[in-house]
Amino acid sequence: MPDYEKLTRALEARGFRVSFFPTGEEAAAYLTGAIQGKTVGAGGSETLRQLGLLEALSRENTVYSHALPGADRAEAIRQAALAQVYLSSANGLAETGELINIDGRGNRVSATLARHETVYFVVGRNKIRPDFAQALDRARNIAGPRNAVRLKLSTPCAVRGDRCYDCQSPDRICRALAVLWAAPTGVGTTEVVLIDQDLGF
Ligand code: SF4
Repeated sequence: MPDYEKLTRALEARGFRVSFFPTGEEAAAYLTGAIQGKTVGAGGSETLRQLGLLEALSRENTVYSHALPGADRAEAIRQAALAQVYLSSANGLAETGELINIDGRGNRVSATLARHETVYFVVGRNKIRPDFAQALDRARNIAGPRNAVRLKLSTPCAVRGDRCYDCQSPDRICRALAVLWAAPTGVGTTEVVLIDQDLGF
């Protein structure tokens, strides 16, 4: 089990707002209560999909995500970057407070650094590791290959399903790495929503 007390202290010391929920259901209820009447952006996220968050938020907000059925992909990415609120998960989170995401198109990592009122990182316990090196290793060798398998890509990690091969495949989904050492300043609030449940890749 992650050391949530240590993690919360580390994140708060780095300027993040932190909330904690035992289950995804409780976290989803919190977020749908906190986000109302807003434009909301999100990239592709298995965590958000598992929680049904984008559909739930669509009831009281205008949600832009290329992951929503029937979405105009390019327009959804453009509008998501401009939204008042942005949601993402993380590929790795260190108990020392560093938050890591790897991206293929770059829309998700760039949007998490852009000017929104609030950015929420919704993070299941399976993303948490004791330190930065292990969190980065998790992002590269677990999140990357599992997403490549999910997307049925022609990459060595998708074929073997075991680790990252630092491939140069045209299908490579690991093209940008963003590490938040601290909550960005001057861009609104950055909140990490911790959930004591395995979610996403
Ligand atoms: S760099 Fe290539 S091999 Fe490594 S996880 Fe990404 S897609 Fe897979």
